[in-house]
Amino acid sequence: MAQTYQDLLAAARAEIREVQVDELAQRLAAAQAPVLIDVREQSEWDEGHVPGAVHVPRGYLESRIAGVAAPDDQVVLVCAGGMRSLLAARNLREMGYEHVESLAGGFTRWKQSGQDYVVPQTLTPQQRSRYSRHTLIPEVGEAGQLKLLGARVLLIGAGGLGSPAAYYLAAAGVGTIGLADDDVVDASNLQRQIIHTTDRVGMLKAESAKIAIEALNPDVKVNVHATRINRDNVLDIIAGYDVIVDGADNFPTRYLLADASLMARKPLVHASILRFEGHASVFIPYDGPCYRCLFPEPPPPDLAPSCGEAGVLGVLCGVMGNIQANEAIKVILGIGETLSGRLLVYDALGMEFNELKVRRDPNCPGCGPDAQLEFRDYDAWCAGIGRHTEAVHA
Ligand SMILES: [Zn+2]
Repeated sequence: MAQTYQDLLAAARAEIREVQVDELAQRLAAAQAPVLIDVREQSEWDEGHVPGAVHVPRGYLESRIAGVAAPDDQVVLVCAGGMRSLLAARNLREMGYEHVESLAGGFTRWKQSGQDYVVPQTLTPQQRSRYSRHTLIPEVGEAGQLKLLGARVLLIGAGGLGSPAAYYLAAAGVGTIGLADDDVVDASNLQRQIIHTTDRVGMLKAESAKIAIEALNPDVKVNVHATRINRDNVLDIIAGYDVIVDGADNFPTRYLLADASLMARKPLVHASILRFEGHASVFIPYDGPCYRCLFPEPPPPDLAPSCGEAGVLGVLCGVMGNIQANEAIKVILGIGETLSGRLLVYDALGMEFNELKVRRDPNCPGCGPDAQLEFRDYDAWCAGIGRHTEAVHA
């Protein structure tokens, strides 16, 4: 004799205990909580589910149950209204799961009863497509991509280093990018500052970069800080970010950032460039060495020519800026080995990468235990005015 849907449900109810919402809430809060399995489809799960539930869509329940619960575990199944879970529970009983129950009224009643529920963060279908080459990488995955979308990176300078770094961070889906630069695009910038274009000469660099980033990736929110970073504004500006990428072209800004990143405990991704040589490192405050463990004092001004004076190979900026973007992404995702504790030295002419080990200096004037961390007049200090003598490290 053919069975109707109603007959099936009645038979299942005779066999499977139905748990009420209040009872489930209490049992989930207890030490011996049951395994709660949500058997709905992906789209239903994405709209919200009971906290702590495991998602196994109905169609995969029998094949995946062994990885989720043992036959002697207490198992509660939940669906939208309590029917699918009831019928699914019967199948688990047949597989030897003796203590399987079903949530009466399902997630709908759970939600209506005012119980807590979570809405998982997920990528939209457009984002799944855009970032598919990231999410395919096990070390990144959808969770990593969501981290990138939630990350906030501040770029100091939208110039030679900041251009490639900003472009690739934006392409990677870093959700918030701050651009701190008070300069305007000049024709002489375009040989290396690839985020700008000929028709934007004269525009603020931060605004020009914003146009390029927004055209590339609408997921990215761009904050323009059209100001020169100084000791009065630096802490306010960096407060809104998780990682600082230093693309400054001068020592006063580098030392200012070194101090500010220690004060605010923000990771600092460093690079510098000149002619055919690039340096890069990562400074994680009070975990690895800081910039001043490496360079306690600025070099004498006559030994520190700028790119404006000595020139720089445009492509070198691309290599070093991309190394910065790469390191920033690793810091955000918490994967791999960053350049913390190492100074990478790239010789573009010889095509050689070398690295120097950098250790935390116990007497560091920046991060050492006796360091008096306070802002100073960095322009005067780097110009050699009023520089007090500190031990020069071997
Ligand atoms: Zn230090």
